[in-house]
Amino acid sequence: MRLIRLLQSLFIIGVLFIVISQVTSAEQKSMERIPTSTEEHNWKQSSVNYETLEVGEHKYNYWKNFMKHTRTCHISHRMKTVVYYCDIHNHTKSETILDEVIHSERHRKD
Ligand SMILES: [Zn+2]
Ligand SMILES: [Zn+2]
Repeated sequence: MRLIRLLQSLFIIGVLFIVISQVTSAEQKSMERIPTSTEEHNWKQSSVNYETLEVGEHKYNYWKNFMKHTRTCHISHRMKTVVYYCDIHNHTKSETILDEVIHSERHRKD
């Protein structure tokens, strides 16, 4: 009976060892595929795109002929997207920034 128990525990240890070694080798394989942040890139600007999004409107007052008028002004955001390409790893990245806030009407800022 003791021998059987010993064999059983040896078997369990063996199975565990195989499982652990497979898990660690799988981790190592996936580690190889992900480029690390310290890796050198050769980012080159490949394209620039502008997109204008209407984000809202507001009312503003102005005076004409001693009369107070109200007009609606539309606000748009001009978004600039720059696409970069790295020829070492054959991948791209893009950055989008708010390039300009555009008011449709010319008015005093208040
Ligand atoms: Zn790269
Ligand atoms: Zn405005």
